[in-house]
Amino acid sequence: MIVDFHCHSNCSDGQLSPSGLIELAEERNVQTLAITDHDTLEAYQQNLKSSIKLITGIELSTVWNKIGIHVVGLNVDVKSKQLCQLVESQKLIRLKRAELIAKRLEKYGLKNALEEIKSKSQGSYIGRPDFAKLLVNQGICTDTNHAFKKYLGAGKTGDIKNQWQSMDEIIIAIIKAGGVAVLAHPLYYKLTNSKLRRLLIEFKNLGGVGLEVVNGYQNPDKTEYLSKLCQEFDFKASIGSDFHSHKQWKKLGCNSQIINGLNPIWAVF
Ligand code: AMP
Ligand code: MN
Ligand code: MN
Ligand code: MN
Repeated sequence: MIVDFHCHSNCSDGQLSPSGLIELAEERNVQTLAITDHDTLEAYQQNLKSSIKLITGIELSTVWNKIGIHVVGLNVDVKSKQLCQLVESQKLIRLKRAELIAKRLEKYGLKNALEEIKSKSQGSYIGRPDFAKLLVNQGICTDTNHAFKKYLGAGKTGDIKNQWQSMDEIIIAIIKAGGVAVLAHPLYYKLTNSKLRRLLIEFKNLGGVGLEVVNGYQNPDKTEYLSKLCQEFDFKASIGSDFHSHKQWKKLGCNSQIINGLNPIWAVF
């Protein structure tokens, strides 16, 4: 089976519209798809036609022990009052954060950032990828990678932390919306083994049920390591491409065989 429970549309930092993503998924024989935009459910406010099974989803930003963590909520009721309220506050937090990033990057020559980003934006999402594009357009950086490395990546001036809703509030809102919380790309945070284990324990205690065992194309060693953790902590396994655009080397759709032997998260949908 080919499935994908993690990808982005232009409602956040993806390239394709939600309909465009669905068309691509159909072309690539994806059988079940969840569009999981950063902190927004706007994709699901559109009139989406799909011949494949669509699962609602969202990728929520949070912070745990001063580390930026992403939690994917799957199979959520997109009209849930509690989740919509949480999304609304994340949106305000994003806007405040963007104001701060814009101010900090002024020192390095970035001009009219908020106005430019808002005028180009499809939806309400404002994020670091928007600043990266602008840093390149204004000739301050050579490419997006350079922008993240110098100004926006972990620990840099444009990486503003400690502002998101807490992990417990996020997991509670996902559960109240009838969904399941999945810890996204657990190895992306570059935690030590013991710190990752602490995160998994806390995530589980707060009601998290899924672990993203596969995120895009990853080294088989990583998949094996995450599969072991998934079993040890009795999580359900999720897999997703984290597809953003055709410019990336990641492709939409993951073969479910990669997690053979684990309890798949989609069995509960
Ligand atoms: P934000 O939601 O504003 O915190 O921005 C995070 C997003 O930036 C991630 O979801 C990635 O899509 C993107 N991103 C993070 N690091 C990089 C990088 N080094 N190069 C390009 N995009 C990145
Ligand atoms: Mn992204
Ligand atoms: Mn993420
Ligand atoms: Mn993502």
